[in-house]
Amino acid sequence: MYRSTPPHLLNVAATVKSTEFLGPGKRAVVWVRGCYANCRGCIAPDWQSPMPENFQTVDSLLQQLVIENEDIQGLTISGGEPFLQALALHLFISQAKEIRDLDVIIYSGYTYEKLSTNHPRGSSLLLDVCDVLIDGRYQQEQNNGVGMYGSANQRVHYLTSRLQNHNFSTVDRKVEIRFDGTQLFLVGVPGMHVSNGFFSAVETTKTDIGVTTTECTLEEAGYECK
Ligand code: SF4
Repeated sequence: MYRSTPPHLLNVAATVKSTEFLGPGKRAVVWVRGCYANCRGCIAPDWQSPMPENFQTVDSLLQQLVIENEDIQGLTISGGEPFLQALALHLFISQAKEIRDLDVIIYSGYTYEKLSTNHPRGSSLLLDVCDVLIDGRYQQEQNNGVGMYGSANQRVHYLTSRLQNHNFSTVDRKVEIRFDGTQLFLVGVPGMHVSNGFFSAVETTKTDIGVTTTECTLEEAGYECK
């Protein structure tokens, strides 16, 4: 079990106000922090730790990403593992949809079948406010460079008819590099050569400027696992 954050707070890894590389049209993206799937070759290893480095209120995210961001047509939610913060994300998305008619794409390392049993807690509620779920753990050996997901075992579930004309399996992968003032990160679904090159360049830069990465376990960060 993962001790979830209060429902009005999200443990955020990064956000972007607008990109065209993670779904149709212009979209705001929220990446949450914390995941213990531990997939080999994970695209977001720095965001696996659930250490609460950047809690943001739902109200603050709504202000930045929806109210002051009128150009977007949708939200994409990734991580980390979004469903470990299901109740807070449900609140965020529900309120976002009251402000504007947005479509929602969400990623998860859990399968749809698991989430449908309401595990982790609040998953059923979160599924109810999303239009597309892309599910399954990343499997590096099945990264064939195709589609808006990391590996071919991952599946696209159209939870509503809203994005059913968008084929996530044939879309060209495109990536952009963003800097939010504290971290560089990739936006989009990169091919393996792109992500390997990116991480290699970041590690080289960290070494050059003397930065070290602090690791923590889930228990050290105050979360309970079983
Ligand atoms: S589910 Fe995603 S964030 Fe979690 S370890 Fe796997 S690739 Fe990384």
